[in-house]
Amino acid sequence: MSQIESKWAYTKGLHDDGSWGWSNAGLISDSGESMLVDTLFDLRLTQEMLDEMRRAEPAAARIGAVVNTHSNGDHTFGNRLVEGTEFIASRACAEEMSHDLGDPRRLADMAHGVDPSTELGAYMAEIFKSFDFAGVGYVPAPTITFEGQLERRVGNKTVRLIQVGPAHTRGDVLAFVPEDRVMFTGDMLFINGHPIIWAGPVGNWIKACQLMLDLDLETIVPGHGPITGKSGVAAVKGYLEYIAKEARRRYDAGMGIFEAAQDISLTDYSSWGDAERIVLNVAALYKEFSGGKRPQAGPPPDLFAMMARLHASRRR
Ligand SMILES: [Zn+2]
Repeated sequence: MSQIESKWAYTKGLHDDGSWGWSNAGLISDSGESMLVDTLFDLRLTQEMLDEMRRAEPAAARIGAVVNTHSNGDHTFGNRLVEGTEFIASRACAEEMSHDLGDPRRLADMAHGVDPSTELGAYMAEIFKSFDFAGVGYVPAPTITFEGQLERRVGNKTVRLIQVGPAHTRGDVLAFVPEDRVMFTGDMLFINGHPIIWAGPVGNWIKACQLMLDLDLETIVPGHGPITGKSGVAAVKGYLEYIAKEARRRYDAGMGIFEAAQDISLTDYSSWGDAERIVLNVAALYKEFSGGKRPQAGPPPDLFAMMARLHASRRR
């Protein structure tokens, strides 16, 4: 029996602009079994989500497996609350989770360790103000990893996990439920907000969008923003194609990252939130254009400082 719950996504944190850290998670359930797709950015948010899921769907009382679509903390930091279940991720995601900002303590340092009277500190405080990274403690690692595709059953339903990264991160995975024509995309889709290219190449991301457009899908749950359909996929694909072309032109002209990020017109995307993310996207594209050899900017804190500057300048 096909159940409506599988089409239901937890959207308490939903912001129309798909802003920093406000991610979506989903529950797939059938015949008393359930699978969770992603957890949220801290334990409090994840616990509230689990409580609400359990009120709506008895099968959620015993979650059999968790899929982490990718390594970012807003999709993994709540894992501890479902410890003891299977954690499934791509191998690249599992590797990435154990590094850098996959570690909640490092994210806590980065988010809250900057003097809030500075432009960067004020920006970090603003975008991360709603989350408690220090309380996360640790993040249980994936127990099952795969490359390419993995098929699992939840009751009588099939869940096809399709690795499409590296793109947004190094190991992005889509979770497709063919019987329901539902897909959970993780951050391969941001709806009404600017997507972030952390890893690239952008070509893989565009291909993943094309795959979504080619599959028989009705309901698409993005990593951030409201539930969408194929028009949402087409919008993200169009955005990526556009910024890749615009960034290439400026790279060839020798323009720097910040200058290019300021120069690329985002008029067609003025209704999307977090426009300063263009800094991260230009940096990732420049790195790709240079074959990854020529560092065009420093580590993430430098890029966050550029985003803070762009964010502040656009407000003035
Ligand atoms: Zn996310």
